[in-house]
Amino acid sequence: MWLKCLPRLHRGELNRAPRVAASGHPWNNQFSDGLMKYIFITGGVVSSLGKGLTSAALGALLEQRGLKVRLQKFDPYLNVDPGTMSPFQHGEVYVLNDGAETDLDLGHYERFTSGDLTRQNNLTSGQVYETVLGKERRGDYLGATVQVIPHVTDVIKERIYAGSSGDVDVLITELGGTIGDIEGLPFLEAMRQFALEVGRDDVLFLHCTLLPYLKAAGELKTKPSQQSVAKLREIGIQPHILVCRTEQPMTNEMRKKLSLFCNVPVKAVIEEMDVETSIYELPLALKAEDIDDLVVAHLKVDAPDNDMKVWHDVVRRLKAPSHKVEIGVVGKYIELQDAYKSVYESITHAGIANDTNVRVIRIDAEDIEEDPAKHLASLNGILIPGGFGDRGTEGKILAAKFARENNIPYFGLCLGMQIAVVEFARHVAGLEDANSTEFDPKTQNPVIDIMEDQKDLTTKGGNMRLGACPCELAADSFSIHAYGEKNIMERHRHRYEFNNTYLDQLKEAGLRIGGVNPERQLVEIIEIPEHPWYVGVQFHPEFQSKPNAAHPLFANFIASALKYKK
Ligand code: GLN
Repeated sequence: MWLKCLPRLHRGELNRAPRVAASGHPWNNQFSDGLMKYIFITGGVVSSLGKGLTSAALGALLEQRGLKVRLQKFDPYLNVDPGTMSPFQHGEVYVLNDGAETDLDLGHYERFTSGDLTRQNNLTSGQVYETVLGKERRGDYLGATVQVIPHVTDVIKERIYAGSSGDVDVLITELGGTIGDIEGLPFLEAMRQFALEVGRDDVLFLHCTLLPYLKAAGELKTKPSQQSVAKLREIGIQPHILVCRTEQPMTNEMRKKLSLFCNVPVKAVIEEMDVETSIYELPLALKAEDIDDLVVAHLKVDAPDNDMKVWHDVVRRLKAPSHKVEIGVVGKYIELQDAYKSVYESITHAGIANDTNVRVIRIDAEDIEEDPAKHLASLNGILIPGGFGDRGTEGKILAAKFARENNIPYFGLCLGMQIAVVEFARHVAGLEDANSTEFDPKTQNPVIDIMEDQKDLTTKGGNMRLGACPCELAADSFSIHAYGEKNIMERHRHRYEFNNTYLDQLKEAGLRIGGVNPERQLVEIIEIPEHPWYVGVQFHPEFQSKPNAAHPLFANFIASALKYKK
C-alpha cells in the first residue's frame, strides 16, 4: 500500500541509537522510567511566530539523530476541534488518518517527521472541559468540588502521558497561543506539574519569542522577550532554550543580555531568522545554531549527530530548479495564506520531485466568471482545491471547463472533483442543469449528492466521511500510473459523493472512473482519458505529501504541466 511505503525521512541513514540514558536523579522518575523525554514549546510576545514550524523542525532534527519523535499540539480555545471553524479564522483543517479534524500545525508535524499522528495528538480546552464535565456528571469525582487544579490539569497531564505511549523516545508538545492568554494558563500549570512529577532532567522547556526591530533606533529590542519569560517564570516555568524570531542578526551583546535577563545560558539563546526561500530550510538553520546538541545534552540522550543529508538534498533541489511552470489554484479563500496550506506545500514537494520551480497563481473563483481565458490561458496547470458552500462554484466550473477544452492538466481535490463531474455532466453528457445538491438542492440532475445511507446521519449532525479510506485504482488510469500500485489509502473530509445513478451515463459520455472505494462502491477518482492529464479525486491527497516524498498525484500533475507546457 502506498501509504505504508512513504519513505521515512531518516530511512537507512542512521545507526539507531540506544534509546536514552537513564537520568538517575535520586528523587526523579517517580512516574517515569527516565527513558521517555518531553519537550514543551511555548510562545511569547505575539502570535503567528511560526512556533508550529519550529516544533516540527526540531522534531526533524531529533529524528535525524535516531530518536523516535512524536509531536502534539495543545490548543487553548474552547472549540472541541477546529472542524467547525472557518478557514478565515483558523486556516486549513488538517485531517489525520483516523479522521480527526485538527490544527494545521499537525500538517507541519507530519511533513517534517515520520511519526504517525492520531486524534490523541491535538487537545483543545473544549475537549478538556468536555472530559471533566462528563466525569462530573457521572459522579466520578465522588462529591468533590471540581476545580481547574487538580481536575482540569489532571486531564491535561493524562494526555501528556498518553502521548508518550507506544514506540516513542521524545514527545514534543506545542502549546498554541501566547504567554499571557487566560485560556493557556491551565495548560502551563499542567506542564509545570508534569515536569515536577517525571523529573526535571527528562523535561525541556523551549520558549519562542520575537525580537522586534525598531527602525528609528536601528536596533532589535529584547524587552518584550524578557517580559514574556518573566510571565512564564511567574507560573513556575524556567525555559531552557529561547528561540528568538528576528529579521536582523543578533549581536553577541544581545545574546548576553537575553541570557542575563531571561536566565538562560548564552548558547541556549537561539537566533531564528526568516528563512530565504522555503520553510524546509528551517531544520538546517536551527542546526546551525546547535539547537539539537543543546536538547540532547539537556535531556541526557545518547543520540549521535547526523549530517542532515536528507534536508540538504531537499533544500538544494528547491533552490536550483531546472524548469519552471505556472499553476493556477482556483478557490474561494485565495487571499488567505493558510486556508490551502497543505495544497501549496504539496505543490512545492511536487516541484522538488520534478526539479521544477512551480509558480502558484492564486485565482479567486468569482473573478474569472466574466472572462475565464483572461485568467487561465497562460497557465500550465489548473488545480481546484476543496471547499464548502456555493460561493464561486460557477467560476470553478468554468475553470474546469477551460482546462478540459484547452488540454491544460487539471487536478481537482474533493470539491474540485465534484466540480469536474458537474462540468462534464453539463457540457459533455448534455445534462444541462446538472449540479451538486450542496449548491442546488432542487436540481433535476443531482450528479453529486448525499448518499441514501448517509442522509439520516447528515440531517442529524452533518456527518462527514472523514479519515483514511481504501481505494482501488482502475487499470491503465492516470492514477494507477502515478501511484504504481492498485490499492491505496487516502484521507477524506466531505459530505457529498458522486451519485452512482449517473455512473453509466457519464461513462458512456467518456468519463473514466479512475478509482472506487471497494467497500461501498463509491467513486473516488474521475478522469478524462482523451485529455493529457485530467484527474479529480474525492479525497485529500495533500495530507500525505512530504518534501522528500511528494505525493504521486501531485508529482504527476506537475510532471504533466511540464510535459505539455506550450
Ligand atoms: N463541500 C463538499 C462536500 O461536502 C466538498 C468538501 C471538500 O472539498 N472538502 O462534499
